[in-house]
Amino acid sequence: MPHSKRGQARLVAVALARTDAFEHLWKEVCVMKFLNKFGSKKRSPNLDIPKEIQEALRAKMQEFKDAKATGCPYRPFSKQVDFCNRPLLEGSNLCFWHTPNTAKYDPQVMKKYFGDSRTLKEAIEKEVAGGASLAGAYLVNAAIGGNWFERGVNLSGARLEFANLSGAHVSYASLKGASVVGAKLENTYLSDADIRDANFSHACLYNAKFRGNDFTGVKGLTKESFRGWKWEFLPEHRILEEYPDQSVEVYRSLVSYFTAKAALDDASWAAYRGHLAQRQLLKQSLSPITPVVQTLIQSHFVPGETTNIERLTLLSYLRRASTIFALFSSYISCYTFGYGEKPFRVVFVAGLVITVYAALFNWLHAISEPGFWNALYFSTVTFTTLGYGDLAPRREFRLLAASEALVGVVLIGLFLFTLSRRAVGRG
Ligand SMILES: [Zn+2]
Repeated sequence: MPHSKRGQARLVAVALARTDAFEHLWKEVCVMKFLNKFGSKKRSPNLDIPKEIQEALRAKMQEFKDAKATGCPYRPFSKQVDFCNRPLLEGSNLCFWHTPNTAKYDPQVMKKYFGDSRTLKEAIEKEVAGGASLAGAYLVNAAIGGNWFERGVNLSGARLEFANLSGAHVSYASLKGASVVGAKLENTYLSDADIRDANFSHACLYNAKFRGNDFTGVKGLTKESFRGWKWEFLPEHRILEEYPDQSVEVYRSLVSYFTAKAALDDASWAAYRGHLAQRQLLKQSLSPITPVVQTLIQSHFVPGETTNIERLTLLSYLRRASTIFALFSSYISCYTFGYGEKPFRVVFVAGLVITVYAALFNWLHAISEPGFWNALYFSTVTFTTLGYGDLAPRREFRLLAASEALVGVVLIGLFLFTLSRRAVGRG
């Protein structure tokens, strides 16, 4: 990271321009200190901050330290000096919303705290309706969702920055225009939730459950919003894919969301995950019983339908055969070109094909001159359909060589298609 005296001076100037906003100044100094420590090889011990600013800062820091909360001492990051100040929860040094445990959802505890018996849903709605900020609220596993017959919690316009909603049930809820900046929404149930115009910048939505969501006006979603860790160390980007029929649709909506924002790489990721979910769906329908069950259900509910077991058995076999074929071609397109999203897979496969053919030509003594390098040269020239003609296959291996040329043409075409789709978009 570059960090020159001029850079420092610029930072101070930026900070000075906002002296009313102490927090910004403080942040700039943190950045400068960090840069001083890690940013350069020559560690300069002194920061080039003018004396009076240093003193002003020190005074402000002291004020910050001396400030006393009258209630809950939680301070949202964006507001350095204002406390939450809500009354404390019994047995905790924070208020109900900021206390980080799930025992607080107990109706007895809630009744004691709020003075009347209300559900968690009602309590949250009251806070939101009163315009209070729920920034940093701890709502892990909170059951505030709804179902087909009942709306979920109404959080429209709520301030939920840096709130922890991991595993919470927020299905059928309204998050319209809510701010969930930096919030944790891992494993959160968001099925049929209204998330239009909500701000998801820096939020974590790994393994969140989506279904039928409308992404219109949503701010701040990227591929990175869906990042989590597979086996604790491998980064992985996805939503909950346990129900592929639903996740396929969500990924489709995400593709059009990202495409509309010209976020091509993010759209490509969503499209790829959608194809994987589609494959999962195929695997599920592989069960020979699925079409039978579907038809039986139909004939049970639709009057006048009769079931013909022989016809059903035939249908189930046919369906199974076509599914196996579709699954097979899905695996092929996944590993050769990543469903048109992964150009470098094509390059890898091309290298593999050239090497395998070279080994084959060498082993079969298919060309006039012996040796692996000659075979590799011949294989490459054939793959690219360059055909210099200085080396030629022996009569009985002409078809083998021609088959490599065919594979080459197809793979080169796939590469160009995949690359252009990735780079230009999917119009
Ligand atoms: Zn609080």
